[in-house]
Amino acid sequence: MKILHLLLRLDLRRLILALTIVSVLITLANSFYATYQVQRELLINNTLEANRVYAAKLAETTDTFLKSAQTQLKYSAALLAGQMDDEQALLAEARRLHRQTESFNSVVIVNADAIIMATSPETLQIKGVKLTSPNARQSLNAKQPLITDPFLSPAGNYLISISHPIFAPDGRYLGYMAGTIYLQGENILNLLLGQHHYKDGSYLYVVDRNGVLIYHMDQHRVGEKVTDNPVIDAVIRNQSGADNLINSRGSDMLAGFAPVPRAGWGVVAQRPKSATLAELDKQIQAVFIKILPLTLLTLLFIWFSALLISRPLWQLARNAREMDQQHAQDRILAISSWYFESAQLKRAILKGVGLLNDKITQLNTDSHTDPMTALYNRRGMQKVLDYYQEIQQHFAIIALDIDHFKGVNDSYGHDVGDQVIKSLAQLMQKNARKVDALCRSGGEEFIILLPDTNAQVAEGIAERLRHHVAQHEMPEAGHVTISLGVAYWPGDTTGINEALKMADRALYQAKQQGRNQTLVASAPAA
Ligand code: GH3
Ligand code: MG
Ligand code: MG
Repeated sequence: MKILHLLLRLDLRRLILALTIVSVLITLANSFYATYQVQRELLINNTLEANRVYAAKLAETTDTFLKSAQTQLKYSAALLAGQMDDEQALLAEARRLHRQTESFNSVVIVNADAIIMATSPETLQIKGVKLTSPNARQSLNAKQPLITDPFLSPAGNYLISISHPIFAPDGRYLGYMAGTIYLQGENILNLLLGQHHYKDGSYLYVVDRNGVLIYHMDQHRVGEKVTDNPVIDAVIRNQSGADNLINSRGSDMLAGFAPVPRAGWGVVAQRPKSATLAELDKQIQAVFIKILPLTLLTLLFIWFSALLISRPLWQLARNAREMDQQHAQDRILAISSWYFESAQLKRAILKGVGLLNDKITQLNTDSHTDPMTALYNRRGMQKVLDYYQEIQQHFAIIALDIDHFKGVNDSYGHDVGDQVIKSLAQLMQKNARKVDALCRSGGEEFIILLPDTNAQVAEGIAERLRHHVAQHEMPEAGHVTISLGVAYWPGDTTGINEALKMADRALYQAKQQGRNQTLVASAPAA
């Protein structure tokens, strides 16, 4: 019931509006969705690639640093090979290495018995201490250049040590020289990596070969072993690349990673996916704002077009419903039916309901009729012609004029002349069909409009009228004759006035050729 009610309320305008607006909105939504997807993929890929390149660059920087640190230690180790008993020389070399480069947080020299021989800075106060824990003895056990796993030093620092063994010229192992990196607090990694922080939620971390964090933005996490992270698993297997992963904290991350082969470490640069996609929201918003004005304009245009297209049909439909009411046909005539279907419907409505007769009845008013003959006057005729033009009614025209009428007036007087005119009008009416329009177009000149009549038939009608007139006994004046010109509209012309003129010309020719005859207009001279 409700749906029926709704359907009844639907009209063409609403249908066009609904159809086009829905189409526009679907198109718009579709292009938004496509833009969103394409941009999203682009942003994600760009971020992954940027992080991959970034991680590779920093891994290389770190590797270069480690190489240079090892070279320095190697040099010092060679220098100290013959001086392991000279405490002053050991201290001096430790100090030089510590201060001259900014590479290490501290420098220590340890002998083959695991006793600390010299430190810089000396404030560490661990000189003479013997290393006992397995972690602290990694370099001793290795007896070769080593980058250790993180361990807690005797002085209480969580650190990584880069060491080089010291061998006597005879090949005896004398101990090692090591530079340390304190993992908590200021260190060389901060210097190398820290300054590269993005400001957009990106960050960087470094894991050692066991997946233990040795560098992280969040200092508290240093020393933590990260598990179940595919990127870390890959990077400590010496692989590089980029990946979208859920990190240990449950965040969706876009990570680039690269190994530091010298140490077995891995550098990971990552950015939360949400931070990357936040840009996308801004982009889509910007696109929306750019699209909005034209979309609104389009909708306005659609609304206006729908109105324009539907109006003639709507008006026709409304007037068709009230056809019995007065002035309905005037309103229908006033409807501007500017396209084919509406024009055809308008014609059909006007014609189909027999408005032709109504129209003629309506024209029988004083202002449209000639008082003497009760035929249409020029104004009434014009109305009929306008109407024919409007509904594209084909019709024939008969123009007629009394022959030598001046003579009638002269011989019998003006009143008799008037009587002749009246009698002729009556004769015309008697001979006409109900649909024919009879007009007195001038003094003793008349026009007959015959709808749906071709020139040939009209000529017959004209001839019949001519005979009737010629045989008719006029009061007092006796017999008069008339001359007639016939034309057809549209025929060879497009303008109704042109057709009228052709009828006049034919009449004029009939006069020329001796009067009391009918002539059908031929095609107008070019
Ligand atoms: P023809 O048409 O055959 O060329 O000759 P005509 O004598 O009819 O010439 P024309 O049409 O030029 O003259 C028309 C005359 O009709 C002139 C005018 O005095 C007369 N006339 C016009 N209107 C009336 C009218 O209402 N009553 C009368 N009695 N005479 C009229
Ligand atoms: Mg005349
Ligand atoms: Mg005349």
